[in-house]
Amino acid sequence: MKNTCLILIALCMVVLSCATTGPGGQKSLIIIPSGQEVAIGAGMAEQVESQERLLADPEWQAYVNEVGQRIVAVCDRTDIQYTFKVIESDQVNAFAAPGGFVYFYTGLLREMDSEAEMAAVMAHEISHVVARHGIKRLQASLGVAMAYQLVFGQDGASEAMQAAIGAGMTLIFAGYSRDNEREADNYGIQYMVEAGYDPKGALGMFDKLAAIGSSHGEASSYEKLVSSHPDTQERIQNAAQQIAEMTPLPGNLTANADRYRRMKTDLPKGS
Ligand SMILES: [Zn+2]
Repeated sequence: MKNTCLILIALCMVVLSCATTGPGGQKSLIIIPSGQEVAIGAGMAEQVESQERLLADPEWQAYVNEVGQRIVAVCDRTDIQYTFKVIESDQVNAFAAPGGFVYFYTGLLREMDSEAEMAAVMAHEISHVVARHGIKRLQASLGVAMAYQLVFGQDGASEAMQAAIGAGMTLIFAGYSRDNEREADNYGIQYMVEAGYDPKGALGMFDKLAAIGSSHGEASSYEKLVSSHPDTQERIQNAAQQIAEMTPLPGNLTANADRYRRMKTDLPKGS
């Protein structure tokens, strides 16, 4: 009992430092600090890269990083370094590990038709990191005692880290809540425009992935969009409404369709 009280007091002290988790300086209570979040994300990235094959095309790797950093430059979280990498796989998927480790599958890149559509996926993934959706779910799933070990680095800290990495991998492939998705869609469209991308790329992205439909299994599909998930139509409507409310849009927005299509010819064809 005494220990539990001490843990709770200690956590309350940590919690007092709120983190920025959205546009307009929006704050959330985050127990696990950025340094630990990055360490967990790095552990997850290591696992991903030991299981998957990165695309051996430096031009493509540089391209996704360039577009990613363009969105990072306008996002609301700058206390971490973001990395963007392409995995060679037919899966129509993309994800972000906590701490800013973002991955794209060639299967998804092949479905996109412009840089703005790819940027829409990127902005959505960056938004999950900005809003700390992954780490919030992780700290809820680990529980108070484990979060305490992780944060204060006492005995068992490395075990807590391993447990966090394992739990993080499970959570990331289980998908986020509807509210998390709505928030990431919303921030993402905002960031696209601020980064100079035509937000209609988000509509193109949603439409294409939704149209692929049942030919792909839900478990391996991007954000469950490539399925008959009923929320998809709602997400498309929300995005269209948000874009309508943003008009008049700045005049200098780009979709960079030509550059994207040129790059796409170099992607492996897939099976
Ligand atoms: Zn998402």
